[in-house]
Amino acid sequence: MILAGDLGGTTTRLGLFDDGAPRPAPLVTREYATLDHISLAAIVTRFLRDTGCAADAVAATCIGVAGAVVDDEAVLTNVPWRITARELAGVAHLGHATIINDVEALGWAVPVLTADERVTLHEGASAGRGNIAILTMGTGFGAALLHDIDGRLVPSPSETGHSDYPARTDREIELLMYLRAKHGRVDIERVVSGIGLGQVSTFIHGGRCRTLPPGAPEAAVPAHVVAQALSEGCPECVEALDIVVDGLAAVAGNLALINVATRGVYIGGGIPPRIVDRLRRPEFLRVFRDKPPMASVLDDVPVHVIMNPHAGVVGAAVRARHP
Ligand SMILES: [Zn+2]
Repeated sequence: MILAGDLGGTTTRLGLFDDGAPRPAPLVTREYATLDHISLAAIVTRFLRDTGCAADAVAATCIGVAGAVVDDEAVLTNVPWRITARELAGVAHLGHATIINDVEALGWAVPVLTADERVTLHEGASAGRGNIAILTMGTGFGAALLHDIDGRLVPSPSETGHSDYPARTDREIELLMYLRAKHGRVDIERVVSGIGLGQVSTFIHGGRCRTLPPGAPEAAVPAHVVAQALSEGCPECVEALDIVVDGLAAVAGNLALINVATRGVYIGGGIPPRIVDRLRRPEFLRVFRDKPPMASVLDDVPVHVIMNPHAGVVGAAVRARHP
């Protein structure tokens, strides 16, 4: 049996899988509020108790975590924990334990995703070979690259979210100057994420949205802006979401060029499935391709949205099979 997981800034998903190639079969999956716990080990211990699973039945464990992993140690970006593979393996003597970046874990899932687990924004002209780029937008922003090495897809992690935000329009440059004055430097995650949506909303509204209920916590702002934008209830919320979506499209185009992702761009994370109708509008692909003289190259790149919220856990289970 395999224990696989996906530790995000807001939600941690854990699952038990029957070993099987190429895609292990899920037995049970549970979700936990990440910050209601003191550590990943505490969540795993609770999961084993909740599911009645004996730790010695677990042959291999792999958890994708939202942060950079160096030498089996992860420093998380939006969660105040340091996690090591040794600590994880020590939980009730679990089997061989691995920690990888969460978007790298999603990369392991992409080759085994079924057609009903994704929405295609653009068919492109897929050669059936070539590299893939993956982006995620949830609490934070994540990215990973899948390299085609002699026909085998090999995921590699990336800290693209902390590279510089690519402002393109006059309005985005105004936003860049506003955020630079507040934070000194403006990385992609500062705009293209749930956290970013809150920052962009404050810039556009000149403070809080007037439709936000009094006393609502700051953490409620991103979901509120998305709801108001999709229902077109507040014009400033519409503009805020447009800027974040345009940023996602521009970064997706950049990553497609950086990795020559002729086999496709996959967009995952918690927010894209909720705004997929907004991503389907022509504006998204227009911004994605707006990189002359490379527009025709980008027009050939397939673009998909990953709709299965458990895809990261599936990827971690696939990775657990490759110790
Ligand atoms: Zn508003």
